This record gives sequence, structure tokens and C-alpha cells, in this order.
Amino acid sequence: MGTAYGILAVSVLCVAVHIDNCDLNHNFGYFCRYSRPTFAQKLPVSMSTDRFLMLLYFLPLAAVFVWYVRRQLRKESYSRTTLETAEESGLTEPPTLHPDIDRNVCIGCGNCVAACPEHPEHVVLGMIRNKARLVGPSDCIGHGACKAVCPVDAITLVFGTARRGVDIPQVKPDFETEVPGVFIAGELGGMGLIGTAIEQGRQAMESVIRLVKKPHKNPLDVVVVGAGPAGFSATLAANAANLRIRTIEQEELGGTVAHFPRSKLVLTRPVELPQVGKVKFKEVQKEQLIEFWREVEKKTGIDISYRERVDSVQPTADGFVVQTNRQKYQTRAVLLAIGRRGTPRKLGVPGEEKNKVVYRLTDPEQYRNLKVLVVGGGDSALEAATSIAAESGTSVTLSYRSAAFTRAKLKNREKIERMSQTGQLRVMFNSNVKSIQDDSVTIETAGTVETVPNDAIIVSAGGILPSKFLQSIGITVVTKHGTA
Ligand SMILES: Cc1cc2nc3c(=O)[nH]c(=O)nc-3n(C[C@H](O)[C@H](O)[C@H](O)COP(=O)(O)OP(=O)(O)OC[C@H]3O[C@@H](n4cnc5c(N)ncnc54)[C@H](O)[C@@H]3O)c2cc1C
Ligand code: SF4
Repeated sequence: MGTAYGILAVSVLCVAVHIDNCDLNHNFGYFCRYSRPTFAQKLPVSMSTDRFLMLLYFLPLAAVFVWYVRRQLRKESYSRTTLETAEESGLTEPPTLHPDIDRNVCIGCGNCVAACPEHPEHVVLGMIRNKARLVGPSDCIGHGACKAVCPVDAITLVFGTARRGVDIPQVKPDFETEVPGVFIAGELGGMGLIGTAIEQGRQAMESVIRLVKKPHKNPLDVVVVGAGPAGFSATLAANAANLRIRTIEQEELGGTVAHFPRSKLVLTRPVELPQVGKVKFKEVQKEQLIEFWREVEKKTGIDISYRERVDSVQPTADGFVVQTNRQKYQTRAVLLAIGRRGTPRKLGVPGEEKNKVVYRLTDPEQYRNLKVLVVGGGDSALEAATSIAAESGTSVTLSYRSAAFTRAKLKNREKIERMSQTGQLRVMFNSNVKSIQDDSVTIETAGTVETVPNDAIIVSAGGILPSKFLQSIGITVVTKHGTA
């Protein structure tokens, strides 16, 4: 609106300038530039030619004014709808670092809205009553670009909200925790984004290198947990320094990035990747980024143990024992680069160990012509079910233990409703998976047990957050409620 009034002011100014530069002959008390009157003397103006000329100025400017106001109103209405949808779906909590906007300081310039790198794919920030507002909190991933462009410092980047705290482990500037020998890098420490994770992984490993230079009796210098951007970069740095290292990853290379939707445009910044040098990507498709990291993995010969999960870290006389689901490792130092997504929650039913059971959807195409069960009731479960059901030849069942999808976005709920009405997928509310067989799955619904033919299962039942794991190691976790 400020801009709208600005446009109006410019209109008036233009008319004044016109008056000031008028060289027409007239007799109505109008003062032109030849007589150089004061501005006060020029008023009032009353002559038909000038009225016409004034209209000539005013009309286009008034049209621009109206267009601008309507555009702002449309944007505001869109922002309000986005916010209402988020509130209706209970998606009001930002997962990580996010802007806290001081509405008393905000001047409504809209710079933050324009600067958010998630736009237009996700509407994170919007303008309501001429002030910036976090309208899509759950889509905010903590770029922090909004804060950088705010001309009046109305934005503070914070963790958690009054309603939901976010657990942040205490980490020193050299990335060591209060447990000497245990380090943390990447999003787990609170700062999201790929570039930051890569940078922190490299820097944390420099601290590890300083520590393990001193003699110790452990077979390994360091165990890196996680092969997302932070763990990958740390592994390369350790490899360059010839450390005795083991990197353990419960899933696959790339961490959270590997689970981005297909073809997602990843926005990042140029970074220094150990053993590679400057990597200048700014915008790159998820698949290309992962492919690039795979190439680096191959060329450098680093050894990452995939499908291995770290369950505990216990201190010893001069290091730690790291227990995984496969074996124990004795090491001088541990670098935790496990992100914040946690470990996927399991169903805990017989047959869950089969290869056909996965915990995240990567590519719906791979399920063509298959009978698929999706378990869960959040957005990721609904999105997995609808995207697979859209593939040819699929037969999709969505099993959810509650009576309604109250945790999911409206647009996902509507899509499920449409697809189940047209028979493209089947929804089983109040249902629980009981057992998994090679070519079927047994599901119980309100006391009735049914065996459904099945080729693949995707469990989207949320994750177990890393806080408990950190506390079990002795690391203090501080719960932040909207503070930096
Ligand atoms: C939808 C979405 C979009 C995003 N878009 C962007 C973007 O465009 N640009 C950007 O810069 N950032 C983006 N981000 C943020 C970015 O993905 C993360 O900040 C970054 O991946 C953090 O890297 P990390 O290495 O710290 O953790 P992660 O990438 O989360 O990696 C952690 C790894 O640790 C493993 N792990 C966890 N626990 C264990 C265990 N006990 N044992 C063994 N392994 C374990 C996990 O399997 C995982 O592979 C986005 C995030 C999301 C959710
Ligand atoms: S950039 Fe700052 S002043 Fe401008 S709309 Fe956003 S919060 Fe308000």
C-alpha cells in the first residue's frame, strides 16, 4: 500500500510538473513557467485544455494505481488462503531455523517475500495487512535470505515456536560437544542448508584432525555418522588427511537431498569440497547433484558403509565404542552428521525386514504395474500414494491407523478423496499392518483381518528424532522456543 500511495504522489507530482512546464496560451489565471510564480500562486487551476492534459496524466496513473492495488489485494488474499490452509492442516510449526518477523518494525516493502528461494514452488512468506508473515511455516527450510534483504532489521532467525520447541545440541565453535571427542556438523547443530552442512563438515573434521594427531590406541581415528552433505564433506577431508576413518550411513549417499522429490531444483551456493576444490553449483537438479557426489565418491575412493545404522556411542578410556546394527568400532573421535530427520519409524511387524519394504518414496515410476501399500497419514504418505497411483498399472492401498487425515494439507486430502472416489486407490482408515509376506500383506481393520496381494510397501510413519540418541551419549540438548 505504501507503494500505491507513492504512485498516487507521483501522479500529483507529474501534474505539478506539467503545470510548471506549461507553455500554452491561456487567460484563466493559470501561471506558466514564463512568469515563474510560487507554487501557491498556481492554485487553483481551472481551464479546459489543462483539465484535458491533467486527465491525460491522471488516467494512466490512476489505472496503474488501480492495477497495483488490485494486485496487492490478490496477493494478500493468496497469502491469507495459504495461511488458513496451513492452520487448518495443523502445519503451523517450522521444522528448523525460520524468520520471526517483528510486525511493529516491518515497513511492508515485501523484499523478504521476493527473496525467499523457495518461491514460487512453496509459498513460505506472504503479506497480510501490509506486513510480512510466515504463511507456510512447514515449508520454511531456513535459507535465511529474508533476513539478509530486510532493510529495517525486522527479521530475526529463530528455532522453535512458543508452542513447539526445537532441540538443539550444545556445540562449541570448533564443533566439539561437551563430550570431548564427539563432534557435530550440519543441520543437526541447528543450521540447515547444503552449503552450510558441507562447510561445517570440513571445518569439524579439521578439529578432529587436530585431536587425533596425539597418539591413541584405537584402531580408528574417527567414525563419521551420516553421509549427507556434512558427513560426505567430512569424509573427504578425513581421507585427504589420511585418517583411519569409517563412515556409516543407514540409507544412501546424499542424506536429505537423496529424498527430495524427483527433479527438484536444489538451490545452493558455491562451496569448497575437500579433495575437489571449488564447486560452483547454484541451481542444480537433485539427480545431477547426487550423481556428482557419486562420481566424487568413486574417484576419491572413499569408503562409506551403507545400510548400516549407528545405535549407540559409549565412552572408553581413550575414545569410544560405536555400536551399529552390524558390528562394533573402536575409535578416538566420533563426528555426528546425522541431520534432523531422525531414523524412520518402523512398523515392528513380522516380515518388515524384506527388501520390498522401504521408508521413503524416491521415484514413483519404479512402482509401475505393481501392487503397492503405503502406510501413514501425513503429507509424505498421501503424496506417495497419489503419485504412485498416477503411474500406469499400479494398484495402491493407503493404510492409516486413525479415522481421518487430520495432519495432512488440504490439497493432498482432496486429491486422495478424488482418487479414492474414482477407484484409483483404496483408503483403509483405522487399520494396522499385522504381517508382511513375500507377495501379500495382512492388515487388520476394526477387528477384521484381510490379506491383500502386495509387491511393495512404503512406510511413511514419521521418524524418531535424534535428541534421545544425543542425550544417551551425554550431549546436552537445549529446547528452543522461538529464540536464536
Ligand atoms: C524438502 C526440503 C528441501 C530442501 N531444499 C534445499 C535446497 O534447495 N537447498 C539447500 O541448501 N538446502 C535444502 N534443504 C535443506 C538440506 O537438505 C539440509 O540442510 C542438508 O541436507 C543437511 O545436511 P546434513 O548432512 O546435515 O544432514 P542430512 O542431509 O539430513 O544427512 C544426514 C544423514 O545421516 C544419516 N543418519 C541419521 N541417523 C543415522 C544413524 N543413526 N546411523 C547412520 N546414519 C544415520 C541419514 O540417513 C542421512 O543420510 C531442504 C530440505 C528439505 C527437507
Ligand atoms: S523485508 Fe523486512 S520490512 Fe520488508 S516486508 Fe519483509 S520483514 Fe517487512
